[in-house]
Amino acid sequence: MKIGFIGLGNMGGPMAANLARAGHDVAGFDLVTPCPDGVQPATSAAEAARGAEVVITMLPNGAILRAVAAEVIPAIQAGAVLCDCSTVDVQSARDVAAQAGAAGLDSLDAPVSGGVGGAAAGTLTFMAGGSDSAFATVLPLFEVMGAKAVHCGAAGAGQAAKICNNMILGVTMAATCEAFALADKLGLDRQKMYDVVSTSSGYSWSMNAYCPAPGIGPQSPADNGYKPGFAAELMLKDLRLSQQAAEAVDADTPMGQHATALYAQFVENEDGKGRDFSALLPRFAARGRSA
Ligand code: NAD
Repeated sequence: MKIGFIGLGNMGGPMAANLARAGHDVAGFDLVTPCPDGVQPATSAAEAARGAEVVITMLPNGAILRAVAAEVIPAIQAGAVLCDCSTVDVQSARDVAAQAGAAGLDSLDAPVSGGVGGAAAGTLTFMAGGSDSAFATVLPLFEVMGAKAVHCGAAGAGQAAKICNNMILGVTMAATCEAFALADKLGLDRQKMYDVVSTSSGYSWSMNAYCPAPGIGPQSPADNGYKPGFAAELMLKDLRLSQQAAEAVDADTPMGQHATALYAQFVENEDGKGRDFSALLPRFAARGRSA
């Protein structure tokens, strides 16, 4: 398939490389990052998009997505699919889908989970919003870049799934970390805490697959000095998107709101920026109730 790929950063670079390695004809563009091996460099986003059957974007946020979409939509051939894999606000996803539709293009919002490791290994999960036909067109590419793709509904549904998932992740990681810090102060051994909780009703992905306590459970960023992994500032971005969406539809999300405030404090006023999001554990462990 002829593919335009715009945004070749930590995620987009390995995703584009995997498509090229699978035999697709990939033209890439990024303002800063060079094209990975196998991807043909284009001189602009519009040039990368011209003649492509699928144009994929992997960009930092909704404002940049809107700007890139405005540039590339006029260059994309009729009948092609514009597929945004970035994590952005639901409204930007819906607005870009409407603009694409008005220009005779099909589109998908298809954010991912799985992080940089999943992008490199081709094991991402895609959650897609858009038409059946757009999903069917892009599915073979999702199968190269990922291990699972779920068609969640109409435009915006992929972003909705992503921010709901990550709101749960932020809340459960915060709860898991504060529970470990409480266990410490109660004199409970961390390994015993893990052995019980990981097989009891407190289990979660945060505890079982990504344990925030070093030396316990499977390998995780905690075992590597809390080097990300999934950086605390990216968790904060997604939590803020969840709260922006909750406000827009008048949804009551008190736990999401608490987790957002906590990660904002950690990233903006403490030493959380550049650390894995599970580094809340040493933060809690070093504090008392009112510190
Ligand atoms: P990144 O900052 O490494 O990459 C973004 C790239 O976009 C950069 O290379 C930047 O130069 C490029 N860019 C910015 N403006 C551009 C423009 N106008 N035209 C062309 N290129 C432009 O970020 P990332 O970690 O690759 O994340 C990309 C998206 O994926 C984000 O929305 C992020 O929230 C989401 N995401 C990231 C992860 C992760 O673990 N890193 C996991 C899931 C989802």
